[in-house]
Amino acid sequence: MVYINENFLRLQKSYLFVEIARRIEEFQEKNPDIEIIRLGIGDVTLPLPGVCIEAMEKAVKDMGKVDSFKGYGPEQGYLFLREKIAEWDFSKRGVSISPDEIFVSDGAKCDTGNFQELFSNEIKVAIPDPVYPVYLDTNVMAGRAGELLDGRYSNILYLECTENNGFLPEIPDTRVDLIYLCFPNNPTGATISKQELKKWVDYARENKAIILYDAAYEAFIRDDDIPHSIYEIQGAREVAVEFRSFSKTAGFTGVRCAYTVVPRECVGYTKSGDKISLRDMWLRRQSTKFNGVSYIVQRGAEAIYSNDGQKQVKELINYYLENARIIKTNMQGLGYTCVGGKNSPYIWINGRMDSWEFFDLLLKRCGIVCTPGIGFGKCGDGYIRISAFNFRDKVEQAMDRIKTHLK
Ligand SMILES: *Cc1c(COP(=O)(O)O)cnc(C)c1O
Repeated sequence: MVYINENFLRLQKSYLFVEIARRIEEFQEKNPDIEIIRLGIGDVTLPLPGVCIEAMEKAVKDMGKVDSFKGYGPEQGYLFLREKIAEWDFSKRGVSISPDEIFVSDGAKCDTGNFQELFSNEIKVAIPDPVYPVYLDTNVMAGRAGELLDGRYSNILYLECTENNGFLPEIPDTRVDLIYLCFPNNPTGATISKQELKKWVDYARENKAIILYDAAYEAFIRDDDIPHSIYEIQGAREVAVEFRSFSKTAGFTGVRCAYTVVPRECVGYTKSGDKISLRDMWLRRQSTKFNGVSYIVQRGAEAIYSNDGQKQVKELINYYLENARIIKTNMQGLGYTCVGGKNSPYIWINGRMDSWEFFDLLLKRCGIVCTPGIGFGKCGDGYIRISAFNFRDKVEQAMDRIKTHLK
């Protein structure tokens, strides 16, 4: 008989998007003339930068000629891309990362989800609440999360992010081994300063722990004092793995390209106390289970690392940041407390009522869809997430409706 991995049965049912879709459908049936505006989307809306299109067109032609055709590429990614990443994303910011510490992949979702495979099931894991659901669910599937009691897994340490701590996770007073952090944050839009991030790096060094740092929204950072990479913090090379993605940076959500940095100094331990390089383990894992990102896509990603490319990416993100500013200013103008919306495409709004109640209010009174905060964890209750990923006229129309109907 083929027994299943029963850890899958421990996953919490994901009602969120099904429930959102159901409520939208019900509303639209009753109000067929109202055009619904979706501000719940976690996906980009603008097309790819021109430099990426040109590079991919050229790469397609390469594939049609005997001399430049490419079959399987290196599992770690083509050197041309890893060298550009090392130079433009790190060296230019005063951070030293070598191309052989960079692993190109088809998404930060899979990388943040897969990286936990390198660790024992006996480790203690700390995960923020609210959070991008991938970190938690992949640990549940691996059998590391324990029993589900009252919406919380017994072996997970939840790092609660609330108004009281400015939506920044606090250093645990117990020992944990693996820590997930995401800045700028999804869903709250919160950012972390160098001093605060230094506390986590110090904690990880003292406890021989590893930080998995998700910097998928790095490109939205505009304030000079916010770190773009965890490696801007002294000592981080020994304790941090960083995830980056071209998805939100350059509109690659449908093209698929990302990368993970695993510095040579990062180690885990055997039961007998030997140090093992996580970079070597990840290389072995990737070359066994992954066959690389397509040549065409890697050429497209490479194109953002030029003066033209950087300019186009910056313009793309400035568009969303202006949307975010408009949303935040309007919501604050109506008296709502908000975080994010600066250095981030997300605005996290305290609705002063149950998440779903506020969702219904926005839908029924204004015809606007948001994401209920409770979908990201217990601490998300009472909040909603509004996303700046939309067209300017839609955002402005949505704000007009909110000003008229929520006063
Ligand atoms: C969108 C997003 C990613 C990027 O995922 P891809 O698989 O690279 O598209 C990673 N982490 C967070 C928190 C995100 O919101």
